[in-house]
Amino acid sequence: MTSDFEAQLRAVSLRVTRPRLAVLAALRDHRHVDTETVITLVREELPSVSHQAVYDVLRALTDAGLVRRIQPAGATARYESRVGDNHHHVVCRSCGAIADVDCTVGHSPCLTASDDAGFRVDEAEVVFWGTCPDCSAENSANEPPVGRK
Ligand SMILES: [Zn+2]
Ligand SMILES: [Zn+2]
Repeated sequence: MTSDFEAQLRAVSLRVTRPRLAVLAALRDHRHVDTETVITLVREELPSVSHQAVYDVLRALTDAGLVRRIQPAGATARYESRVGDNHHHVVCRSCGAIADVDCTVGHSPCLTASDDAGFRVDEAEVVFWGTCPDCSAENSANEPPVGRK
């Protein structure tokens, strides 16, 4: 697998470094993780890596298009390595859990804006908000019984 990551880095003219490989590996195994989680995962492999180094790697990989950064309003930025398919996300208002949602209409990137105001649209980013199954289950468990008479 490591050689795949090396090829990915070379394809975008980024130097192959251990922190970059470790970040790519972390994002392969964990989707939609925030920076703190990435740092924790990378440190399992490279204990001495600094916060700043991981920030820099995430920025370089995001700029190069190998990593996608998602930042739902009011939430911390998350990163994922599923790029290039313009999938969307559904976010839980309660716990911040994020799941992938594939393009629903036609193929990516959902470019049929009803009125594009003259812009040449090349990307659509849709965030669906709701309550995840865990939180829904918890909410209904905590609800007081409706027994008003
Ligand atoms: Zn939730
Ligand atoms: Zn995603």
